Amino acid sequence: MTARVLVLNCGSSSVKYRLFSGERTVASGLVEKIGEAGSEVTDHAAALRHVMSTLDLGQLTAVGHRVVHGGKRFSEPTLIDDDVIAAVRALTPLAPLHNPANLAGIEVARELLPGVPQVAIFDTAFHRTLPDFAATYAIDAAVAEEFGIHRYGFHGTSHAYVARRTGEVVGRPAADLNVITLHLGNGASACAVTGGRSVATSMGLSPLPGLVMGTRSGDIDPSIVFHLVRVAGMTLDEVDDLLNKRSGLLGLSGANDMREVIARCEAGDPAAMLAFEVYCQRIKSTVGAYYAQLGRVDAITFTAGVGENSAPVRAAALAGLGRLGITVDPAANDAAERGERIISPPGAEVAVCVIPTEEELEIATQSLACLDRG
Ligand code: ADP
Repeated sequence: MTARVLVLNCGSSSVKYRLFSGERTVASGLVEKIGEAGSEVTDHAAALRHVMSTLDLGQLTAVGHRVVHGGKRFSEPTLIDDDVIAAVRALTPLAPLHNPANLAGIEVARELLPGVPQVAIFDTAFHRTLPDFAATYAIDAAVAEEFGIHRYGFHGTSHAYVARRTGEVVGRPAADLNVITLHLGNGASACAVTGGRSVATSMGLSPLPGLVMGTRSGDIDPSIVFHLVRVAGMTLDEVDDLLNKRSGLLGLSGANDMREVIARCEAGDPAAMLAFEVYCQRIKSTVGAYYAQLGRVDAITFTAGVGENSAPVRAAALAGLGRLGITVDPAANDAAERGERIISPPGAEVAVCVIPTEEELEIATQSLACLDRG
């Protein structure tokens, strides 16, 4: 019988869902503005009750839940029970917006679908293979241990999926491949993957560091925070808001959407041109760092909204890396194609790929694999 899996991705104010029959999507949708002023949907429970009332959920094999933070404990898809719920709740200080929303989804789904196995798929799990040197911040080791200060990394489901698909696209077993995956969406992160295992990633304790994002700063000097508090008189919450919601492309150019940034560049706006350059150079530096760590790179894969759609970003981010065997073929890069594709010239040392991410499908696949493992 074909497996039917409901995938739930509960964000801080939204619920995304997708119902799969095998690999086929039979229903999908999004409820937004949960709990916002003027919204009819007051909380996640109400949103999910509504969603579930519209779906045919007979014969469901599993429900797969996206859970953002799995801390150090969760390195695999995990069958949810009371103990897992308590552990996810205990991780809330590390993901104060996300884990409570994820838990709300889990609790309603358990209540409405008793007897259907529920599986948690953690954004952090794929990065539990980071070598210690890559996961360790160089601060007082006892303080780090006591407070869980560690590079956890995020977007793991997407990096795992596109790294595996890269093997298919270049026609080599993923087990032999060194890949750098670039997930460039609203949030953005890079990952170095060797033999299917994450060995470096650009997000950290939280999804704030690393690449420049739509509204997040990515890497900055941590003393900027002290400076803003001590000299500018901001509160910590104001700095948090500044770095997470008013920085990145938005803070530099006034627009968080890369399409708008590029349109403004074309119109000659210097702030947008600087934002584009900062964004692309950060990607390039990260590729260089991961190249050095990996020693050999077989493929570089772009994914998510910007990575899949923006030829100018892909070209600029990898420009000038010919000496490393990295080149982008302009015609292939600019082609209007949308599916999985290679955009480096034939025979290039490093295959540059574009692979649309399929996080929901990956969650469904991993949920079933979890049940099979028993
Ligand atoms: P999320 O991270 O929320 O899942 P996506 O991966 O869908 O988001 O990425 C959304 C972002 O992708 C948009 O904010 C926009 O900047 C970018 N984007 C989408 N289409 C294009 C395009 N054609 N060119 C450049 N950027 C695009």
